Amino acid sequence: MPTHRRHFAALALAGCRPGAEPQAAQGGFVGQSWERGHALRDATGGPASKSGTAPKPTVTRRVHTLIAGGGVAGLAAARALRLKGQDDFALLELEDDAGGNARAGLLGGLPCPLGAHYLPVPGDHAPHVQHLLEELGLRQRVAGRWVYDERHLCHSPQERLYFQGQWQAGLLPVDGVGASTLAQYRQFAQAVRQVQQGSAYAIPIPKWPLPQDQLALDAISMDAWLAAQGLTDPHLHWYLDYCCRDDYGAGLATVSAWAGLHYFAGRHGFSAPGDDASEAEPVLTWPEGNGWLTNRLAAPLGDRLKTGQVVQRIEPTRDGVEVLALNTTTGQPERWLARRCVVALPIFVAARVVVNAPAPLQQALLDAARTVRYAPWVVTNLYLKHPLLDRGGAAPAWDNVVYQEGGTGGGGSAGGGLGYVSATHQSLHPVPGATVLTHYRALGDDASARQQVLTQPWTHWRDQTLADLQSAHPELASRVAEVAVARYGHAMVMPTPGVMNKMAAYRNSVFNSSLSKMSSLTFAHSDWAGYSVFEEAFTMGHLAVV
Ligand SMILES: Cc1cc2nc3c(=O)[nH]c(=O)nc-3n(C[C@H](O)[C@H](O)[C@H](O)COP(=O)(O)OP(=O)(O)OC[C@H]3O[C@@H](n4cnc5c(N)ncnc54)[C@H](O)[C@@H]3O)c2cc1C
Repeated sequence: MPTHRRHFAALALAGCRPGAEPQAAQGGFVGQSWERGHALRDATGGPASKSGTAPKPTVTRRVHTLIAGGGVAGLAAARALRLKGQDDFALLELEDDAGGNARAGLLGGLPCPLGAHYLPVPGDHAPHVQHLLEELGLRQRVAGRWVYDERHLCHSPQERLYFQGQWQAGLLPVDGVGASTLAQYRQFAQAVRQVQQGSAYAIPIPKWPLPQDQLALDAISMDAWLAAQGLTDPHLHWYLDYCCRDDYGAGLATVSAWAGLHYFAGRHGFSAPGDDASEAEPVLTWPEGNGWLTNRLAAPLGDRLKTGQVVQRIEPTRDGVEVLALNTTTGQPERWLARRCVVALPIFVAARVVVNAPAPLQQALLDAARTVRYAPWVVTNLYLKHPLLDRGGAAPAWDNVVYQEGGTGGGGSAGGGLGYVSATHQSLHPVPGATVLTHYRALGDDASARQQVLTQPWTHWRDQTLADLQSAHPELASRVAEVAVARYGHAMVMPTPGVMNKMAAYRNSVFNSSLSKMSSLTFAHSDWAGYSVFEEAFTMGHLAVV
């Protein structure tokens, strides 16, 4: 497994936490190479630039289908072609490994996620994801029922929250909260049930445009909706803000009420303490997170997967598509001629590289790129040679979150912490040993965060992570032996108010079959769903070629 190691430096943790035992620690940035993305930005000069600033290609390659972008969507398109027996394709990926936001890393010899880390057990609205899981042996029919392989389902305990000085089971603040908080939890549970009784919520979204009742929720922010419902309890707000940041990269004030409610209505609902159905939702997870899935999607592609290829231009021609890509190994641009191209790129990249497409399609790309806002994320992996001390309360879980007193933790480089998952949680070894903790930070609420993600040194994010976890794990700073920070400037589109409504209009052109035929282009990327999850990316990629 690749280590994605760049800019490594040997530094010391000494002094980074008051009272911490100093211990030498190595660390650095891993993951996305923003330099390649920014070089593309500088070369293209602006959305859909027609400037011919790039040097002339020296090589021409031909293939029936070209896939641009090797995240989940691009890999799903490649799988669908493979299943159809169409082997004449190539996938061009900018990074040195496929997987996009769902790539795996390696730290201290242990696998860990660099981004996405779990997949909820998919419902019947996600048949293509279900089929993938069957192919990978993760689910099978036993005596007429679908049964998941227990080794890959998240082991219990799944979640815990450090709240008021101790660990409690689950992420909803419960231990020691007052009667008025519990009453608000029940009121919110009732509101979610009501929403679910309206039009269907599912993942992936079953029908575009969204029905009217959902569009009304899309029009306002989640915190405006909560205020209108009289739901003002700070613990409820903290929890819902956490959920929105966890799924969408930004909190209650930034995302729409549609998004805040879809989190529950599209999956497992919301159970107030004491409700019957308070079992945790079953999720699939692996030490390396969803990199387990993307590695398996990439493996059968062999040399059809071309990594280190920066797609710079995609242009429909009379016979198909011409694509220019910079080969980062040779430093030379290469020309690809294909009968068709699957554009599995984020919207902001697609709008730059696709040129001379039919006018409505080109316009929809530009409009979409102007509309969407991206959440930056920072993922910090911490390698520990020895497990953390058990401080009583709920036992160590897969997902461990620290309640931030007096605020939601959203926004700014000091906020946005979402807790950590343990890469060794699924281990069957009876004695805990070395481990990697993967800490997540969503920064979509803060307009200055992207600049900070670009300019702050890795030690800044290490120290922010240690500060987030300090109250729950005071000994953490002295135990961390190695740190790997993955930063994402444009990690995912945020479902801000109005985005789902506008996205429906853009999708009309982008997924229009006659425009697709005219241009030989099909599109697939989770951005086109208005929010980012595996099921949306995978389904879009699959449908792009069938
Ligand atoms: C930190 C983080 C945690 C997440 N956690 C989860 C989770 O636990 N579960 C979940 O379901 N979802 C999660 N997500 C959402 C995740 O984004 C989706 O699940 C999914 O991985 C998106 O896949 P995609 O193909 O749509 O996009 P991307 O992952 O963005 O893939 C796009 C690909 O295109 C490539 N590319 C870009 N520009 C070019 C170019 N010019 N030339 C060639 N290639 C290019 C990129 O390198 C990338 O590989 C998380 C996201 C982040 C950022």
